[in-house]
Amino acid sequence: MSDASSIGGVDFHCHLDLYPDHQAAIAKAEAARIYTLTVTTTPKAWSRNHELTRHTRYVRAALGLHPQLVAERAGELPLWDRHLPEARYVGEVGLDAGPRFYKSLDVQKQVFRHVLERCAEAGGKILTIHSLRSAPAVLDMIEAHLPRDRGAVVLHWFTGSKSDARRAAALGCYFSINAEMTRTDRGRELITNLPRDRILTETDGPFTQAGCRPSEPVDVPLAAAAVANILGVSSEALTKVILTNLRTLIG
Ligand code: MN
Repeated sequence: MSDASSIGGVDFHCHLDLYPDHQAAIAKAEAARIYTLTVTTTPKAWSRNHELTRHTRYVRAALGLHPQLVAERAGELPLWDRHLPEARYVGEVGLDAGPRFYKSLDVQKQVFRHVLERCAEAGGKILTIHSLRSAPAVLDMIEAHLPRDRGAVVLHWFTGSKSDARRAAALGCYFSINAEMTRTDRGRELITNLPRDRILTETDGPFTQAGCRPSEPVDVPLAAAAVANILGVSSEALTKVILTNLRTLIG
């Protein structure tokens, strides 16, 4: 890892390959010294992301198969397997039980179980996980298929209940929080209840907005400031906590 004291912020879940200029998006995060985990939504996207982040100091790529794309892309799972040895980070993976994707939930579960089992076998992977309307099922599967000493989990944009969050924390999970989450009562309530040593920040760009444009990693200090405000600590203090958490997570 880069010298932690040089890191300007942590965006632990962002989709840099979905911006109009992928390379420029990476260069901008790199120049701003934002530790960025750029996730992929299909295994086919991995090679290019991997190539562009091989020599970056602050930007890392993750190998994913997004639950919202599983209906069409489950056939790429063998390709995901083939790339797994090249990847330390895995995502975006998980379950989505929202109305648009509910139909594929059974296939999503098969794919997610496969992902967790392969990660457990390989060991040492760090996963960024989607759990929309499916937090209990996601936690059941993590508990059953990814022993705590075989991999680390970051729940991205977590919208489960307070008791789901407690259970996730007991399972060792981290939570990456974006600015959108700080704008709802439910999100704020959740944030105050999370263990401080499990908090990270994210943008989920380009799927969130910063003003009237899609968020980028350089916008992550806004999320950190909003979380700090909710917790009643200074942005500097929260940034320190997040960097400590990052260091613990990635070793
Ligand atoms: Mn995402």
